[in-house]
Amino acid sequence: MKRTPWLTLLAAATLAACDRATPEQQIVNDAAAALGGRARILAVKTIVIEGKGTSYSVGSDRLIDTNSRIYDVAGYKYAIDVAGRRALSEQTRTPKTPNFSGQAPVKQVQGIDGDVAYNVGASGNATRVRNKVTVNARRADIYHHPLTSVRAALDPAAKIANLRTLGNETIVDVTTADEVSMTLAIDSTTKLPTRVVSMTASDTILGDVAAETSFAEYEDVSGLRLPVHFTSKVDKFKDTDIRVTKQTVDGDVGNLAAPAAAASAPASEAPPPPVTMTVEEVAKGIWFLAGQTHHSVLVEFGDHLTLIEAPNEPRALAAFAKAKELRPDKPLTVVVNTHHHFDHSAGVRAAVSEGLTVITHKSNVAFYEEAVRRPHTLIPDALAKNPSPKPLKIVALDDEMVLKDDTRTIVLYRILDNSHADNNLMVYFPKERLLTQADIFMPRDPRTLGYAPWVDNLLENIKMHHLQIDRMMPLHGKIVPYSEFLKVAKDGFDRSIVPEAPPYRFTAPS
Ligand SMILES: [Zn+2]
Repeated sequence: MKRTPWLTLLAAATLAACDRATPEQQIVNDAAAALGGRARILAVKTIVIEGKGTSYSVGSDRLIDTNSRIYDVAGYKYAIDVAGRRALSEQTRTPKTPNFSGQAPVKQVQGIDGDVAYNVGASGNATRVRNKVTVNARRADIYHHPLTSVRAALDPAAKIANLRTLGNETIVDVTTADEVSMTLAIDSTTKLPTRVVSMTASDTILGDVAAETSFAEYEDVSGLRLPVHFTSKVDKFKDTDIRVTKQTVDGDVGNLAAPAAAASAPASEAPPPPVTMTVEEVAKGIWFLAGQTHHSVLVEFGDHLTLIEAPNEPRALAAFAKAKELRPDKPLTVVVNTHHHFDHSAGVRAAVSEGLTVITHKSNVAFYEEAVRRPHTLIPDALAKNPSPKPLKIVALDDEMVLKDDTRTIVLYRILDNSHADNNLMVYFPKERLLTQADIFMPRDPRTLGYAPWVDNLLENIKMHHLQIDRMMPLHGKIVPYSEFLKVAKDGFDRSIVPEAPPYRFTAPS
């Protein structure tokens, strides 16, 4: 048929109007086509992923960037009610490496229903999660899947922006209709989603972190293309690696509504418990600053004070204030950080904000240099709020360092061949015959349930240096006589349930 020119023009204009996707929308449309088409995606009601894999110990491995402390993940199941914005995850984690709370499997059941996040305990009782950061992270988790993220981006109410490329990925930022922000990356060749990233706040030394889930090995499932390999990272650190063994589209997921006990519980966030700090002068000029789970030790030198451990910001600030109160005329100038684990290092930034010198093992230097520069915008900490922070002052040791003046001597030793951390320091007070360490011997700490998988190794280290000790002054637990430590080192745990009985021997990574 011969068209008149104006009709041809009109047809072209109509086509353009229907098809007037922005470049950002076009990326999403391409991804939708690759996954099985817009109509198929919009028709999906539920997805269930089942699988197994491994989870890692972000912030509590042997070194900041190693992946040696792992958990076996069994019975992994993530059920999503796509339109209802509800999801329930289940998994059973079993430590594969020595763990101070034992080696038993732990089942985790966690849900999200709109704004209601909840955990289901072993008894089947649900409790509401009131921490806003966790609630928002769970809301975002629903979109850490190719189908849900692309489906949300197809919604006309979604905002798509900031189109860019990185290597072979095409990337857009998406704000969903329910106001979850995420970054969606798709493979520029196959157009299949490669990963979804959402920002979350961490109250660790990391601050603002990117939670990232990557998708690989797509297969055909019920008219869709879906991945069978999911890997997640917290910032640049490996978190989980799950292989899907079964996936079901539009199967029966049961009732994913939040249990009544959780839904009816208060939504407002509970204020953090106040810091309790007890002060015990263990020897002249040595104070055990205890209370709650993580302790510190304050040590007086001739012209300054030194704090051993700033585990987290609230305790670090309380310890700084306590130092001023105990010795108003002597400045606190030094913080010794025993090891990089996040529950022992989160106060390092507070120390830096006060201009203190940080003494730590040399393996932490690069990480702490980066950590003091990291943004903490989502939960601003003392350093983020400090308008003119002083530069980081860090003193690194290798296996040993003596801190000494006319009035006091203390010796820092790296605990060798220990699988808890490769850079963990013990602090020896030769005159006072005291030993301080973190995490290896936690006397009478109820969290350890009597397990102490590293005590033999600590004893070997003590013997190697011929330390003369009367009392153990730990950073978890109670001060106890050395005889109690010796007893635990000999028969303090059931070796049959700690299969890799100590002493552990590892070659430190180069
Ligand atoms: Zn630790």
